[in-house]
Amino acid sequence: MGDCIDERDGRVDARDEARAIAERIGDLRAQVRNLALAAENERESGSGVAEGTPEAGYSEFIVADFEERAAACGQEIGWLRKRHDEIMGPYSNFAIWEEEGVAECSECGSLFFLVELRGRFMARTCPLCGERVHEGPFDMRGFKLARERRRLERRGEADTGELETEIRRLAMARYLTSEWYLLSGTPTSLLGYDATQEGYSFTPDYRNDGFFCLRAEYGYAEVGGISGEMALFDSLRRCVNDPSSPLYGSKIVPNVNLVTNGSKGGRLTVMRNQTDCVLLHPEGAFVFEAKRWRSHIAVDAGRKEVRVTKRGRTRCFPAGEGPVYQVTANRKALLKRCPGLDGQRVCGVVAFVEPNSLSGDAGSLPCGGGVFFGELKATGKSGLRNPIEKCIAGWSAHPMKGGGLDVVAMAETLLSEDNRYELPIDPVGRM
Ligand SMILES: [Zn+2]
Repeated sequence: MGDCIDERDGRVDARDEARAIAERIGDLRAQVRNLALAAENERESGSGVAEGTPEAGYSEFIVADFEERAAACGQEIGWLRKRHDEIMGPYSNFAIWEEEGVAECSECGSLFFLVELRGRFMARTCPLCGERVHEGPFDMRGFKLARERRRLERRGEADTGELETEIRRLAMARYLTSEWYLLSGTPTSLLGYDATQEGYSFTPDYRNDGFFCLRAEYGYAEVGGISGEMALFDSLRRCVNDPSSPLYGSKIVPNVNLVTNGSKGGRLTVMRNQTDCVLLHPEGAFVFEAKRWRSHIAVDAGRKEVRVTKRGRTRCFPAGEGPVYQVTANRKALLKRCPGLDGQRVCGVVAFVEPNSLSGDAGSLPCGGGVFFGELKATGKSGLRNPIEKCIAGWSAHPMKGGGLDVVAMAETLLSEDNRYELPIDPVGRM
């Protein structure tokens, strides 16, 4: 019978079996936890009983039984993981990962299909070890390897082939398990090492300075735009995960299509506002537009006009076009789409990812809403983090009635918007 199964069916079977294994491991892990808890409780209640009595013997027997059952679960987990490794064996070549929806755990290094990822929305866990899969551990290793590559290059040592492969593998695993990829719906057809289909492509990589990036292969504007959006998302993600930041616990949703109804000449129209990122905090929201313009950028006093200068040539965006127009329209669309939001507590933000310079009336966020500008990586006055945090602190000083916004529900609404790209994973796994 085996001969009749073509390659495609074989892959589907592998995916189904891996998924069933992941589910079983999840159940077993929960059983182990419960048994450990039960044993602990029994030990505690048994500790009051006089030693050597029949009651004490019975208690010891119960504890031993719990421990034995937990050990059996552990053994079964071991067998299942072994079988899982066998299934994933043919996928150990990372070059096919994105096509097949395969990635690696940042904690235990196991390979798994993305459909097996457990948990939701910025709290995903490895199906095999149960640890959180996130960007941090990948980036720590990538940072070290990329610096090692730079060191070798400086010393003129040629053979970095193995190192190069390891860096690419790490970057690919990091990309495929990243919240950005899982939430943004960025099509995998844009990802790859040759640009045949769409005419452009990008590659996950660690730069020589050790930082993760999406390397644009051919420098097309779309690719630059996507890598700018990802840089913005990543920088917000770090704040949202940082318990010392006022942004801690906010929800961020990248690449949102805000669909609203409008009317044009008396006819009903459907508007789609593509928003690079929305940040939802219980006390208010931000709508982001990322611009990866490697230029000198000047913003006028009323924050209406933007002048972009590159190689001596200046392009001027009046208020009715360019980033101010985009972010204003998206801010309005978000207010329409989420009626629970207060207009005074929704800001539009134009985030310049890597400008040569940013001058004029940038920064200094107006707390009452409106639009402001900032430089993604700057920490001072022209940076983004300080004004956003200040703004949230201002809102939090006067909390909204009724406990603030339900950010999870709002994020779910935004993520369910139509017209999002297809992903190789289940839609339910995206949140
Ligand atoms: Zn793991």
